[in-house]
Amino acid sequence: MSSPDPITSPDCLFCRIVAGELPSTVVARRERTVAFQDIDPQAPMHVLVVPRDHYGDVAQLAASAPDVLAEVVSLAQEVATSEADGQFRLVFNTGTEAGQSVFHAHAHVIGGAALGWTPA
Ligand code: AMP
Ligand code: ZN
Repeated sequence: MSSPDPITSPDCLFCRIVAGELPSTVVARRERTVAFQDIDPQAPMHVLVVPRDHYGDVAQLAASAPDVLAEVVSLAQEVATSEADGQFRLVFNTGTEAGQSVFHAHAHVIGGAALGWTPA
């Protein structure tokens, strides 16, 4: 039985990375999620975990595919173990005021050092 067609958005940066149309440094892959290095790291470990399918933000992902959101969190934990000491911060910027600039749901997996707590 063939897999369903992926949900994509043609002008989406992360859809194009997932499709291999734009370069990235992939650190882990699962069936429905991909982890790659953030191009502008804010900590020693700064990896993005994205669903392969396109959802505009984490709220849409949670409503439409909670099993894929669970895979995002599970892959983040795996990446934190392979790239750092297993401890990590997971950030989903949701909305421009919250700092979202790419409207394809993604988790920032941040760690590898003692982190401060000053989002504003
Ligand atoms: P956000 O601002 O929460 O939407 O996060 C978007 C993230 O994508 C930022 O941390 C950017 O540094 C990162 N980013 C933008 N373009 C690329 C790219 N081509 N490859 C990897 N990360 C990227
Ligand atoms: Zn997308």
